[in-house]
Amino acid sequence: MDDVETSKELVEFIRRSPSMFHTVDTLRSYLDAAGATYLTEGEPWRVERGGLYYTVRNGSSLIAWRVGEQLDSYHFQMCASHTDSPTYKVKSVAELEGPAEYLRLDVEGYGGMIDYTWLDRPLSVAGRVLVREGDGVRSRLLSLDRDVLLIPSLAVHMNRDVNKGYAFNRQVDLCPLFSAGELKRGDFDRMVAEALGVDPADVVARDLFLVNRQEGRVWGFANEFVSSPKLDDLQCDFVSLKAFLAADNPHDVSVLACFDNEEVGSNTKQGALSTFLRDTLRRVNGALGKGDEDLARAVAKSFLVSCDNAHAVHPNHAEKSDDANRALLNHGIVIKEAANQKYTTDAFSRAVMAELCRRAGVPVQTFANRSDMAGGSTLGNLSNTQVSVHAVDVGLPQLAMHSSYETAGARDTAYGIAALEAFYGTDVQVDGAESASFR
Ligand code: ZN
Repeated sequence: MDDVETSKELVEFIRRSPSMFHTVDTLRSYLDAAGATYLTEGEPWRVERGGLYYTVRNGSSLIAWRVGEQLDSYHFQMCASHTDSPTYKVKSVAELEGPAEYLRLDVEGYGGMIDYTWLDRPLSVAGRVLVREGDGVRSRLLSLDRDVLLIPSLAVHMNRDVNKGYAFNRQVDLCPLFSAGELKRGDFDRMVAEALGVDPADVVARDLFLVNRQEGRVWGFANEFVSSPKLDDLQCDFVSLKAFLAADNPHDVSVLACFDNEEVGSNTKQGALSTFLRDTLRRVNGALGKGDEDLARAVAKSFLVSCDNAHAVHPNHAEKSDDANRALLNHGIVIKEAANQKYTTDAFSRAVMAELCRRAGVPVQTFANRSDMAGGSTLGNLSNTQVSVHAVDVGLPQLAMHSSYETAGARDTAYGIAALEAFYGTDVQVDGAESASFR
C-alpha cells in the first residue's frame, strides 16, 4: 500500500470514529478481524502464549496485547495514544427555547478547541445513549449520520470588529441552531430515539458530542496533505494499531493502549492517570501464571512509546517554533522533548527510539517548545505515575491542532506505521538505563 492509500485508510478510520466510544468500536473491529479475543474486566481471564486479546473500560478506552509464543524475554513493549478529541458536549437538558421560534442546543466545551473553527459548518452528534431495556438500562452507540445542527456566525455588519479578534463566550456564542420553528422542545430526544429505534420515553441518559461533518481527504497537486477532523490523536491510534497488528514479536508481550479523556486531563477511571494499564498488566501477568516478582522485573525491562501528534512549523508563523528543534510535514515521526519532563523523552529513551527508526530506515525529527512558550501535555508522563517505565514521546507533525479540521502530511502516516512496527517487531532488551540491545 502506498503512502497516499495509507492516509486514505486513516481518513476512513476517522470517519468511522465520530466519538471516543466509536473510536473504541472501530479499534475493536480491526482487532476482531485479526482474531483477537475480547476479555471483559468483570470476568476471569484466560491468557495463553501466542494469543491476541483486548479489554475495554467505559466503552471509551481500550488495551490490547499479544503474548509472544516463546516469551523468552518477558517484558512489555507498549504504545499509548488517546481516543478523544476536543469538541462540545450536549448538556442533560439539551434544548434552549427561543428567541422567537428558534430551538438551540445547550452545549459545553470538552477540551481546548479552537472555537471559531466550529462555526458555519454542518454538524451532527455522536456518542452513547443509555436506553431502558427489560428490567434495566443498556448502552447504545449513536452516530446520527446527517446534518442536524449549525453554529451561525454573527454577520460582520452586526460585529464590525470581528476581524480584529473576537473572544467567543461559550454560553452565548456557541449554541448550535437545531430548528427555526418546525421542531419543539423534546424533539432532540425524539430524534435520538428514532435513530436508535426506541421509544423516546426510554432514552434515560446520554453522552453526546458535536461532530464536524466535513469529511477527511488527501489533497494537494502533489497529494502532500491529509486533512480531517480529529487527526489529534486518531492518527496515532491508527498508526499504532496498524503497527501492533502487523508486527510479530515472539519474545515479549506487545501492548496497545488507547485512553479516553486526554483532552480533559486524563484523571478519570479510564484515562491515562487511571489504574487501567496497571490493572491490565497485573492481570495478564497473573493469567500467565507469574507472580509479583516476575511483574516487577518485567516492568523494569519494559518500554512505552507515548504517541500524540506534534506541531509542524506553521507556514505563516514559523516564529512560533523553536529555531532548531522543529518538525516539518512529510519528514517522518517526531520525537518530543521537554526539560520539564511533560514529555517523557530522555537521552536513554530517545536513543532507543531513534536507533530503532534508523535501523528501519524511518526519518526522525525533533520537537521542543520555544523556551518562552508553555507547551501542551500528553499521555506518557501521566501514565508513568501508574506504571513507571522507560518512555519516549513521539507524534506525527500536523498543523492547526485542536481545530475542528486539522491538516497533516499524507506521507507521515506510513512513516508512523513503519516506526512503530520497527518498535513492536524488535525485541528491545533494556538493562536499567545503562544499555539496550535489539534483536
Ligand atoms: Zn493529543
